[in-house]
Amino acid sequence: MNVTTHSYLDWIKHLPINDDDLATCTCLCCGATGLDYQYFGFEDSEFGWKIVWCKTCNVGIQISRTIIPDKTDALIDQTERDRFLEQHKRLVLIS
Ligand SMILES: [Zn+2]
Repeated sequence: MNVTTHSYLDWIKHLPINDDDLATCTCLCCGATGLDYQYFGFEDSEFGWKIVWCKTCNVGIQISRTIIPDKTDALIDQTERDRFLEQHKRLVLIS
């Protein structure tokens, strides 16, 4: 697959503010519609980080120091994080 390289800033400018809109957002790299996301957090902290990725080409972006919205499932446990990474081995993250 021919993947165009975009910078972190290109992605930040491109991504919708609302997570709900990611499902209808296009990928900067391959142009496919439909991005997925996952929050990662810490115990007793409202801050964490988020990974947004394209379900088609697996290019993703890691956004650090973000506020985790209420009622969002953030992965805090190391085991859960490891499981996520195991399930998403093919992600190519821009950070
Ligand atoms: Zn893509």
